Amino acid sequence: MMVFTKKMIEIRNILQKVGQSSTLTLPSIVVIGSQSSGKSSVLEAIVGHEFLPKGSNMVTRRPIELTLVNTPDSKAEYGEFPDLGLRKISDFTSIQRTLTELNLAVPDSECVSDDPIHLTIYSPNVPDLSLIDLPGYIQVVGHNQPLELKQKISELCDRYIQPPNVILAISAADVDLANSTALRASRRVDPRGERTIGVVTKMDLVDATRGASILQDKQYPLRLGYVGVVSRAPQSIGGLFKKGSSSGDGSALMNLISKNEDSFFSSHPLEFGPTADVSVGTATLRKKLMTVLEQTMSASLQGTTDAIRQELEEATYEFKVQYNDRPLSAESYLAESLDAFKHSFKQYAEEFGRPQMLQLLKRELDQRVLDLLAQRYWNKPVTDLAPGVPEPDALADLPKADPDSLYWHRQLDASTAQLTKLGIGRLATNVVATNIQAGVEKLIAQSNFVNHPFARQAIVEAASSILNDRFYSTSDQVENCIKPYKFEIELEPREWDAGRDHAAVVLKDELAACQQALKRLESSVGGRRKLNEVMNFVDKARRGDIVVEGESRSGAGGFSAALLQRGREAVFLRDRGDIINMRLLAAKSKQCRTMNNKYYCPEIFLDAVATKLASTAVLFLNVELLSEFYYNFPRELDQRLGRHLTDEEIERFAKEDPKIRRHLEVIRRKELLELVLEKMESLRQLDGREKSRRGSN
Ligand code: GDP
Repeated sequence: MMVFTKKMIEIRNILQKVGQSSTLTLPSIVVIGSQSSGKSSVLEAIVGHEFLPKGSNMVTRRPIELTLVNTPDSKAEYGEFPDLGLRKISDFTSIQRTLTELNLAVPDSECVSDDPIHLTIYSPNVPDLSLIDLPGYIQVVGHNQPLELKQKISELCDRYIQPPNVILAISAADVDLANSTALRASRRVDPRGERTIGVVTKMDLVDATRGASILQDKQYPLRLGYVGVVSRAPQSIGGLFKKGSSSGDGSALMNLISKNEDSFFSSHPLEFGPTADVSVGTATLRKKLMTVLEQTMSASLQGTTDAIRQELEEATYEFKVQYNDRPLSAESYLAESLDAFKHSFKQYAEEFGRPQMLQLLKRELDQRVLDLLAQRYWNKPVTDLAPGVPEPDALADLPKADPDSLYWHRQLDASTAQLTKLGIGRLATNVVATNIQAGVEKLIAQSNFVNHPFARQAIVEAASSILNDRFYSTSDQVENCIKPYKFEIELEPREWDAGRDHAAVVLKDELAACQQALKRLESSVGGRRKLNEVMNFVDKARRGDIVVEGESRSGAGGFSAALLQRGREAVFLRDRGDIINMRLLAAKSKQCRTMNNKYYCPEIFLDAVATKLASTAVLFLNVELLSEFYYNFPRELDQRLGRHLTDEEIERFAKEDPKIRRHLEVIRRKELLELVLEKMESLRQLDGREKSRRGSN
């Protein structure tokens, strides 16, 4: 019947993963006892290794849920902490250290925590058992310890000693059983003593007759009885053994203890011998634990099966109602999300090509052209006149200027040179790369990945790595190909016409922007009248109609400094608007209809040059940057979000989205419950067969 407990423990472990409901627990053996009652020694004698935290400073602060798995076909002995994801630990000193660390991580001020530590020990020398070690009851609260500590420990233990668990109540023989905290606690929850096993430790410390009478349980009868043990290895060898126990064979400590025990008990045959009707020895205890646990598990089989079935029904219902029975796994979710993202990227790629790039770049250059115009034409006075160049006409006189005016020729040539030597290569590459990056971010925002910081970063990095890789060579290529325009620019009449139309649009937009800015200023100072007053003042001061006596920080003419500043901005905007209006008229005039008069119409000429530069740049950007990006990006995504992720990473990724996490959890719970139920059914059959076999014998 060994198989039965093993299977039940397996099921118990699966159920632990299901979590949630407290009804879904299979019985375990809960070990309670006061400090120094010998609790750890008993557990270690059962396991055959020293592995529990030792020390005077309350070293057991969390429940330790210990699963022992008998591995008859393997000599290896090792432990695993399933929650920590550590490897198998075959060094028991290291297990002890980990347990100590996990316990001491609970701060002194709290002293105990109900968050259990899970530990599984595999060994050919242990029985299949599931045991829970709890903090020892304390008699007196030490200083540094919270006053309610006694209460806290007692409450924690009470939570675990509920049915269907079996209670292993440890008491020391040298303390009157009437004073045993463990037995008192057990009586509270199991008054008839039906699921409590009494363990009396330190039998060697009392007179044999007294020891035997304790075990006869006259005073506090327990249906499962008492077992007396001497679970400490003899001191001299024990000391030596402790050092070697990490690498030593578990059966060695066991043998040592049992030899010690045997020699003690057999030296008192009258009290402890076969005729004495008492149970003694760790080996007896171990067998008893196995039998009792198995019986308890068998008894709880039906009840637990029903509870699981009900839980499964609820999970199935939730799956149906909330998730429409839609299957989902972390991998499928990632794969679907990635496919959808790549699909949306493909659409983006179809919509962002040469024409869009051209428009983008042209808009950028329009801005540069406006800056140039403002700097060279719209602003007075002109400061960088070359030597020998005559004083310029006012801009208003440009249409009447001498067609051979050296000044206006130089102005246009210098402006054109400034435009072509702007560093178009870098500028254009940067504009397009930034736009692509922004496009990718927008796609992320509309995709599943929006709720996944990890994936979001991976995608952004995938894009920037490709763009960065291509950046310098693309800039160089573009710069090279526009090089000829730095020396000479020939325009076709068609290009001039397009420039004229477009320049008008740009000027109109700029005019509208000026007017809007003016409106904003107006409302910021509290209305048009107020703004007009300040502007008047600024105008007069500029013309010299009024003398402003050293404008101080507090302002002048009854206006504050801040108001004056706004007034100046407004005057600037108004003047800029006037000039643009004038230039709009000029651009539409008959004179600007042909490109022969290009010196009269710098707005049109520079616009046409900008278009030429932009369209040439786009040819190369398309080949060097865009096509490369469109080809490589989906591959880079596969690299970063596909093959290379481990199962844990995929799981972690999927669970970043709370909705997906809940969906996955329901499915997982359902699957685990189905698995458990299947196992329970086959166990029930096994159990039934076993019972009927026993019955027929
Ligand atoms: P815990 O605090 O309840 O876990 O108790 P321990 O297992 O740490 O034991 C407390 C002390 O009692 C230790 O010094 C043990 O060596 C000692 N001890 C434990 N079991 C026995 C025993 O059967 N006989 C004797 N003489 N001492 C024991």
